[in-house]
Amino acid sequence: LRISVCADTGCIANGSLNVYKKLVEVAEKDGGLVNIQLLSNDENVKGKAIVKTGCLGFCTRGPMVRVDTLNLVYVHVKEEDAEEIYYSSLKGQVVERLLEKDPETNKPYLHIEESPFYRKQKINILEHSGHIDPASIEEYIADNGFRALAKVLSGLSPEDVNQIVSESGLRGRGGGGFPTGTKWKFARTQNSEKKYMICNGDEGDPGAFMNRSVLEGDCFRVIEGMMIAGYTIGADEGIFYVRAEYPLAVKRLKASIKQCEEAGLLGKNIMGSEFSYSLSVREGAGAFVCGEETALMASIEGKRGISSPRPPFPAVSGLYKKPTIINNVETLANIPKIILNGPEWFKSIGTEKSPGTKTFALTGKVRNTGLVEIPMGTTLREMVFDIGGGIQNQKKFKAVQIGGPSGGCLPESQLDNALDYDSLQKVGAMVGSGGIVVMDEDNCIVEVARYFMTFIQAESCGKCVACREGTKQMLNIMTKIVEDRATLEDLELLEEVASIVKDASLCALGKTAANPILTTLRYFRDEYIAHIVEHR
Ligand code: SF4
Repeated sequence: LRISVCADTGCIANGSLNVYKKLVEVAEKDGGLVNIQLLSNDENVKGKAIVKTGCLGFCTRGPMVRVDTLNLVYVHVKEEDAEEIYYSSLKGQVVERLLEKDPETNKPYLHIEESPFYRKQKINILEHSGHIDPASIEEYIADNGFRALAKVLSGLSPEDVNQIVSESGLRGRGGGGFPTGTKWKFARTQNSEKKYMICNGDEGDPGAFMNRSVLEGDCFRVIEGMMIAGYTIGADEGIFYVRAEYPLAVKRLKASIKQCEEAGLLGKNIMGSEFSYSLSVREGAGAFVCGEETALMASIEGKRGISSPRPPFPAVSGLYKKPTIINNVETLANIPKIILNGPEWFKSIGTEKSPGTKTFALTGKVRNTGLVEIPMGTTLREMVFDIGGGIQNQKKFKAVQIGGPSGGCLPESQLDNALDYDSLQKVGAMVGSGGIVVMDEDNCIVEVARYFMTFIQAESCGKCVACREGTKQMLNIMTKIVEDRATLEDLELLEEVASIVKDASLCALGKTAANPILTTLRYFRDEYIAHIVEHR
């Protein structure tokens, strides 16, 4: 018997640790637990294991409990359900009342993968999340962990690895979608004795939690990606930059790095090769601008987190003026499987120009919220109405905000757009790191745009005038509009300031600051007009 309890931050907030403790208590009374590593390695070992795992994705249904030996998942589990789950699982019986139900017929799904929330998903990055104990290096190794690193160190040169990643077409999952192989090549070809690899886990978009979930649920996979990336570019040091508001992710990372050191996977001459590598964790203080590469590096160096002009690019002169590559958590989590399965496998998923899968944090007024992984190219309509189950309380859909404060707000007419880098850019939005917030008819779109501007204005580092002053002016005008004090002249001024901020700002924060305003003006102008004095 093996029962897994989701111990991601979301399920913990819903009480999953109490469920876990109760299950352990019941199992111990019934004759003790076996070593979980033994159980995962050998199917024939008879015993009982209660395991804490990463996120199963369906956050609105938490706490979730998976009975691995019966291949089923229970939803909304409470502490008082633990005994029934345990004894029925031992007998191979199902507790029907705890299964997810078909929203139309109310019939339970025996396997939750059949439910609409999972049906259109394609799980790759999240394959271990909810299945293995993320705190156990043995469980990771038992499920192909560090095989990609072994393959690399036993016969692939840095050029070979770089070639495989370039051929896969993997694009950076942090927002910009820049080709990862090209980025690595810039640093690999620099002639420098010291280079750095950085993992950007500073996820700051409102509503986004994909990177946190990947780090909490499968941090060894990101570590393996970091090691392969370090080997490829010629770095001997890797740094995880993670926001301090993610204490569980930080804790798991530190513990996982320690386990790797103890297992000889970090340090000198790893796996008998010439490759030596160390990893450490730096906690960011939660400034949104520190997600920008130059500000992030300034923060690691102990300076104030403000952006710098480029060139020089970090791949040439980055952390402590040494060649540095900064990749997002999800980008790195993709690496081990690309190495193991090859670039053709990766390209067979998603679209031609945006291959692979992408994780999204689906939140807002949809029935099903949670962590989602889809092949690139899935439409926004499928995301909102199939996976998300449509709008809560029979309300009408109004808009979807995608890509966080740098992204855009799209109306119903744009829902058939594919979720990939190029399609979204054409309509004024962006994939971003993967936050999706769905709004219904009760949301005032102007108020939503003002919220994003409030966020951006507070997070502007203040270095350049266009962003520092421009975001203040845009916020003032937005407040006037929301409070029905603005005139048509103010609306014209808003558009003028937005275009100046876009053109004259130093970094991506300022260059994209006006996006929520510009897309809402483009698609919901009538809502702005309804607030204007002359039209009231
Ligand atoms: Fe700072 Fe904004 Fe200028 Fe970026 S654009 S450097 S966040 S003031």
